Amino acid sequence: MADRDTAAGVIGLVQAYVNTVDIQDGPEELTDPNALERWLVARGLLGPGQHVSEPDLKNAIALREAIRGVIGSNSGATIYPLDIATLNEAAIASRLRARFGADGKARLEPEAGGVAGAMGRMVAAVFTAMADEDWSRLKLCGSPTCRWAFFDRSRNHSSRWCTMASCGNREKARRFRRQHRQA
Ligand SMILES: [Zn+2]
Repeated sequence: MADRDTAAGVIGLVQAYVNTVDIQDGPEELTDPNALERWLVARGLLGPGQHVSEPDLKNAIALREAIRGVIGSNSGATIYPLDIATLNEAAIASRLRARFGADGKARLEPEAGGVAGAMGRMVAAVFTAMADEDWSRLKLCGSPTCRWAFFDRSRNHSSRWCTMASCGNREKARRFRRQHRQA
């Protein structure tokens, strides 16, 4: 995955979450509640030693796919109401509140603890990322079987594939075969 471009900061966090699964080639990183716990603790979204259940895992994956759906709109895809509803539900369940820190900066923080709170921190990350001018560079690969979240560093924001080496070339080959058949 080293050749696939990653973003920094909060956009990078959102991207990393969406890319915990490689839909096309595998693997799925969030295979069980323990794996989810490790992922969330490693990124400071969840305190250590908290219980993560199977329904938590199911919710976390649903939220991840809802975020993927919303990122898709940066690549021109339709936004599905279900994805929006899932994001709103996670925000409500975590009881996100505006907080002003001692540094004078505003942020969204969950009142809920546990995994609901961690999901709230992820929604807050999406919220903050969306306000960043680079958000529109976070896109989904144009290959319907891939849908990897990549950061488009091209000058005119015109990249469509996670990497030309894999999906772009695969798509070109597909187009070539189609044209060849028609000829
Ligand atoms: Zn791809």
